[in-house]
Amino acid sequence: MRYAVFGNPIAHSKSPQIHAAFAAQFDLPGFSYEKLLAPLDDFAGSVRAFFDAGGQGANVTVPFKEEAFRLADRLTERAAAAQAVNTLKLLDDGSILGDNTDGAGLVADVLRHTGIAGKRMLLLGAGGAARGVLLPLVAQVPAGITLANRTAAKAEGLIAEFTGKAAGISLQGCGFADLAAGFDLVINATSASLAGEALPIPASVFAKGALAYDMMYGKDETAFLQQAARAGVTQRVDGLGMLVGQAAEAFALWTGHRPAVDAVLTDLRAAL
Ligand code: NDP
Repeated sequence: MRYAVFGNPIAHSKSPQIHAAFAAQFDLPGFSYEKLLAPLDDFAGSVRAFFDAGGQGANVTVPFKEEAFRLADRLTERAAAAQAVNTLKLLDDGSILGDNTDGAGLVADVLRHTGIAGKRMLLLGAGGAARGVLLPLVAQVPAGITLANRTAAKAEGLIAEFTGKAAGISLQGCGFADLAAGFDLVINATSASLAGEALPIPASVFAKGALAYDMMYGKDETAFLQQAARAGVTQRVDGLGMLVGQAAEAFALWTGHRPAVDAVLTDLRAAL
């Protein structure tokens, strides 16, 4: 049972540690999971060589998720909507299935803290991460999703793609300057926290009792979660649980076993 994660760079990846911890929960003789650095100009060649050498599944991280989407012979519905693939699986007929487990990982982690159904949701950002989670979020039937982005046109365009897939859910795309007040769940899918930057959004976007979620994570609280704290938000969660959640979903796709995540998350957090 040979698995791997492809990226460039890849040295920092926590995925081998996470999957080893998952595998230890089951009787999976010969399970292995390694980090593989793919050259920037030959991701497809690296993946094919891995599968030819007996690999059965792989995760894909920055900057190859769109290339993995193009490489896959078949796609799950959520990968098709995301237009990006973070999980590949070799099927019995030799074809490669592409899936995107990021959204399921996010949803599973948010649900560990609060419900989503009926909530007024604000998703910040309109890049790959936001696109990847929209369909799984819609499936949880929030009252509405407002997608706000620095470049408003990108948010509007992305929302337009999902309108036909969200019956009964109010969807809206806008710029930060046009944001309404009072969201129950505010998820940051921008990369602003990477640069340590707060977002130009008013404190009023957070409703009383709101949960703030940042897809980014780190040892210290992210810039976005610090901003939420200043706005009086007490429920603040970073994206480490999303990372473990997307891994759990990939592991289940490959092995048919759904791992427990809590202890794995606690150990990872302690090691940050
Ligand atoms: P992209 O480069 O595709 O998109 C970046 C987004 O952030 C765009 O919407 C961009 O706006 C916005 N942005 C960038 N800088 C700023 C800023 N200074 N102020 C406001 N908006 C800004 O990145 P991804 O979507 O791939 O990734 C976004 C984040 O999600 C990253 O931090 C990544 O680490 C995290 N992530 C976490 C995962 C996890 O498992 N925890 C999984 C996947 C992603 P504009 O369109 O105007 O340029």
